Amino acid sequence: MSDRMIKTRIAPSPTGDPHVGTAYIALMNHCFTKKHGGKSILRIEDTDQVRSTRASEDMIIKSLRWLGFEWDEGPDVGGPNGPYRQSERSEIYTEHAQKLLDDGNAFKCYCDAERLTNMRKAQMKSGMPPRYDGTCLRLNPEDHAKHEAENTPFVVRLKIPVEGKCIVHDTIRGDIEFEWPEVDMQVLMKSDGLPTYHLANVVDDHLMGITHVMRGEEWISSAPKHLLLYQYFGWEAPVLTHLPLLRNLDKSKLSKRKNPTSILYFERAGYLPEALINFLGLFARASSEGEEMMTIDDMVKDFDANNISLGGPVFDMDKLDWLNGRYLRENMDSEEFLDKVKTWALNDEYLKPIAQMAQTRITKLSDLGDLLSFFFMNRIEGQTQENLRQVKLEELTQRQIYHLVLMQFDAAAVWDKETIEGILRNTAEKLDIKLKFLIQAMYVATTGSMQSVPLFDAITHLGRDIMRQRLRHAIELLGAPTKKEAKAWEELL
Ligand code: GLU
Repeated sequence: MSDRMIKTRIAPSPTGDPHVGTAYIALMNHCFTKKHGGKSILRIEDTDQVRSTRASEDMIIKSLRWLGFEWDEGPDVGGPNGPYRQSERSEIYTEHAQKLLDDGNAFKCYCDAERLTNMRKAQMKSGMPPRYDGTCLRLNPEDHAKHEAENTPFVVRLKIPVEGKCIVHDTIRGDIEFEWPEVDMQVLMKSDGLPTYHLANVVDDHLMGITHVMRGEEWISSAPKHLLLYQYFGWEAPVLTHLPLLRNLDKSKLSKRKNPTSILYFERAGYLPEALINFLGLFARASSEGEEMMTIDDMVKDFDANNISLGGPVFDMDKLDWLNGRYLRENMDSEEFLDKVKTWALNDEYLKPIAQMAQTRITKLSDLGDLLSFFFMNRIEGQTQENLRQVKLEELTQRQIYHLVLMQFDAAAVWDKETIEGILRNTAEKLDIKLKFLIQAMYVATTGSMQSVPLFDAITHLGRDIMRQRLRHAIELLGAPTKKEAKAWEELL
């Protein structure tokens, strides 16, 4: 280990709900950093201009704070190496891309999208992995001059050694070998002049003084390109650790189709941050024997990345429930418990919008319990096959509604009332049914009853992940579509 002061970062991309995988990566980084008395950075990797939103960034920061994480530098706390949002650092990347071009370590590629698509198709047809074929690397100076004169749009690509191997040293996996000719000539700068993840990530890790990178294993195959960039720039590369990805019970990569994945879901469903942290910390435990309840400080003290099992940590909700129950029963006195109940849902922030929705719909305050219980539940009692069947729609149409609404909820870039209303109206239109009936179907799935407080507001307030669970449950009760059905229905949109 180098004798530089240890500095780590977490670098989430703000392209959706705050993911529990981000919490897991943050926890491993936190334990490592604190154990070695290092410093940490939160960097927002918003190079994907289409998918990144400020709302997602805000939610990520809020969720990480809810879990108890802190960082020494970041977009919300400032620091000497800012800005900490990649969208605010374009000039830095342009300069660095230019340096690579000047040194002959990168090249301009003028191939248009059509040529690249045909190239990939041909490669796949002949059983080769899709990869840039180096056409523009072989352009002569006249061809280049012609493109420059014509202002042909270009991207900047990384030059890859034509032979030999790259050895990536990973602290928990050892040496991983890659043949250079199998590494793609990565695009570093897009034709709009903005960087890709690879360039921005390496430049920032260096400029921000990062000594150790702990990130998800999906980035292993990018490591050779990153190491090459460090070499081209003449910089010392950070120590790399690629953490195994969280998995569903069936060992597939943790996905929202099979498991709740948003930190917001766990918060709303009434899990305690310390229980969730404890649960994630179990994946880095030396032995599966002994007491499993541990504080984050215990985890820091015992942390050793080599204890992380490479087999793939399985996200077992029953285990999380068990731990959470123990925290509620064993880890707090009645005052603390009361505080937890208040911070969970009995606070102004959560109650105010609910009270506004309910005010005009009751005759006495004691009506509130019945009317609003669905806001304080995970799975709702009222969502039964019998209740779902009261909706005045063909069962097929009702199944289509839930399936198509769920799909559109998943795809929505923002989660607000206008978007939700737009999705429901669009679905009614495409299925050629009256909005009124679609709303009935959505009421039962959302609240367990045919009528309640204003639907669009209620859905907005419940949040995307709770809604996903409710729609999924309704779909299970009425029968999930076959693959063929799903495909045909999706074509209606
Ligand atoms: N922005 C990347 C992500 O969200 C970070 C990868 C890295 O840590 O290098 O997965």
